[in-house]
Amino acid sequence: MKIIDVLQSGKLALSFEVFPPKTETAFDSVKAATEEIARLRPSFMSVTYGAGGGTSRYTLDIAKNIKERYGVPTLAHLTCVSSTKQTVADKIAAIRDAGIANVMALRGDIPTQLAGTDRSGWHYRYAVDLVRELKATNADFCIGGACYPEIHPESADQKEDIRRLKEKVDAGCDFLTTQMVFDNNLLYNFLYKIREAGITVPVIPGIMPITNGNQVARAIQLSGSFMPQRFKSLVDKFGSDPAAMKQAGIAYATDQIIDLYANGITNVHVYSMNKPDVATKIQSNLSNLLGK
Ligand code: FAD
Repeated sequence: MKIIDVLQSGKLALSFEVFPPKTETAFDSVKAATEEIARLRPSFMSVTYGAGGGTSRYTLDIAKNIKERYGVPTLAHLTCVSSTKQTVADKIAAIRDAGIANVMALRGDIPTQLAGTDRSGWHYRYAVDLVRELKATNADFCIGGACYPEIHPESADQKEDIRRLKEKVDAGCDFLTTQMVFDNNLLYNFLYKIREAGITVPVIPGIMPITNGNQVARAIQLSGSFMPQRFKSLVDKFGSDPAAMKQAGIAYATDQIIDLYANGITNVHVYSMNKPDVATKIQSNLSNLLGK
């Protein structure tokens, strides 16, 4: 099933993100965690693609298993930067052959060892190149793209970032998912600006429940997201008490989702990070709101 169709229900729905194992040894435990999340019947599940493609095989194995065993629509992430045309063609064919209808078309981060090298000869320099490639296949994929309410770290300013985002959407993105946000007002502001710029596709806000103090620094480093004072106070107070931090982090994420729904946003993507307990708790916190 295509995600663009799932998004049209007009009712509050959650989707969850999981990531594939890095090694074969971890495969069974990751598979079990993703199955537990699938049993919650989210609107869809996305499966990330390891930076540099290291876990690409498992992305597809996990996505296919969730779809076939639980009937949950899956979104396979795919990155293209520094890949050859043949490698990407093989990956696209594998996604199609696995019967997966949805692809998150990403550039990926530039590998550290290639930072500063001349990229003019690369076949894939930006996600838009992959979106065009996916559109050129006869697979009729539903294509997602990433967007950044607090601008992508490589962009000079938001205007330029939104201009490039519009090019990506015009090339064929059916929907967008945002980088994690901890302050909904930044998201509302971003939505206003992209709508003004003529980007009309559905945008799914990404919410990351922070469940331990150590996760905070890493999440900020990876995403560059702004931490509102209310959130910082919570981490200061509970960061060193794992059980309290988990409860407070889940409550904060739940509160963000309720605010999004109260402001008319019905589809929310939860960065559930292979944690079925977190996904389950968020879902149960919203039990009287989901599907309404
Ligand atoms: P692009 O859309 O190509 O944008 C990258 C930068 O280039 C931006 O600054 C943009 O403004 C600029 N730009 C775009 N087009 C042009 C152009 N034609 N000329 C000049 N500048 C341009 N990473 C993974 O490795 N695996 C994953 O599974 C994964 N999943 C993600 C899911 C989401 C929802 C998000 C938000 C990010 C994810 N990432 C993932 C991280 C992502 O790969 C990085 O943020 C990466 O740096 C940018 O990818 P992009 O697809 O957004 O790139």
